Amino acid sequence: MAEVLLSKVRKNYNPAILKDTLRNINLDIKDGDFIVFVGPSGCGKSTLLRMIAGLEDITDGDLLIDGKRVNDVPPSERNIGMVFQSYALYPHMTVFDNMAFGLKLKHMDKKEILRRVVQAADVLGLEAFLERKPKALSGGQRQRVAIGRCIVQNPSVFLFDEPLSNLDAALRVKMRLEIAKLHQELNATIIYVTHDQVEAMTLADKICVLSPLRPSAESNLEQFGSPLELYNHPVNLFVAGFIGSPKMNFLKGEIVSISEEKCTVKLITGEKVTACVNATRGKVGDSIILGVRPEHLLTKNIDAADGGKVTAKVIVTENLGAEFYVYMDSGASEVGSDFTVKSDSELEVVAGDEFSVGIPAAACYLFDAEGIAFPRTQVYKRS
Ligand code: ADP
Ligand code: MG
Repeated sequence: MAEVLLSKVRKNYNPAILKDTLRNINLDIKDGDFIVFVGPSGCGKSTLLRMIAGLEDITDGDLLIDGKRVNDVPPSERNIGMVFQSYALYPHMTVFDNMAFGLKLKHMDKKEILRRVVQAADVLGLEAFLERKPKALSGGQRQRVAIGRCIVQNPSVFLFDEPLSNLDAALRVKMRLEIAKLHQELNATIIYVTHDQVEAMTLADKICVLSPLRPSAESNLEQFGSPLELYNHPVNLFVAGFIGSPKMNFLKGEIVSISEEKCTVKLITGEKVTACVNATRGKVGDSIILGVRPEHLLTKNIDAADGGKVTAKVIVTENLGAEFYVYMDSGASEVGSDFTVKSDSELEVVAGDEFSVGIPAAACYLFDAEGIAFPRTQVYKRS
């Protein structure tokens, strides 16, 4: 098992145009951690994973595995196992042979190969399928064979690049649970890439949020922390908008009063909202963005809400049975973005209605004009 340390890692695919893909990536990954790299498509997640695997050069910075700098160590000597989105099994080989193939190439003792394959099959629930060919397996079983191929190598670090994105939604949920179980059983260091923030929230000990690198930005590592740290204390608008589903609502306004515990803002609609936020580094009149999550808005006893209330026009509602969503148009929202309410029960509203919701002060997030979060002084707990 292993620790992985990245220090000031940079990647530039084409030095001629000075455009970095990744910049100033610092990560300290502890032995046994389940780390998820998440971010929109094209932000460099696969690139970062491939650099750790040794499949891609590191332009600048250091990569250490168990304290040893491995920038120039070939992939085969890094003791890393990688599972890709397309699992590319050998179609003419049985499940057993698919898993054994890499070990045979290494001329491993037959008994040891048998032991490892049987053990991996046991962990993955593939014992009954060892003699089958891949075409006689479901998508989920094939993906498990691909993971098995990796497990038998006994790597110190597992790298997964969007391993579930080719599976249908139900199977993705099932495999997600299996991967979580696998982590508990193997106790291995896992680095897992996904663009799906739900996968990130459910699997990770720590999430690394990446964004597409802006030319002037110091880094595109936006935040590295536990799922709840990111949910409760996103450092900026990017992380706040990326973590959580449905997405956090953002409303434009300006500061009207500040204390160490609370800040009151006036939205551009004129509505006043009080947030449990320390905005003392800002001043009255500053433009801000107020954030509040759809699941924290109150639809009952709204006049009792200590943060205030907001009224908006209903555009559409969605009833999912267990959840009810109302998508609204607030004059304080960014053009083109909705103001969303998530409720546990059906609400008596239809498109075109004016609908008011209550805001708990402790549920608010506040961001300055640059999108940097002010520290929250409380964290909201739903009653
Ligand atoms: P992600 O996995 O987050 O979707 P990638 O790491 O695949 O993103 O790609 C990040 C950026 O690097 C993209 O803009 C992509 O076009 C670019 N890129 C990826 N691979 C190469 C390559 N081999 N040569 C040049 N540019 C590349
Ligand atoms: Mg990718």
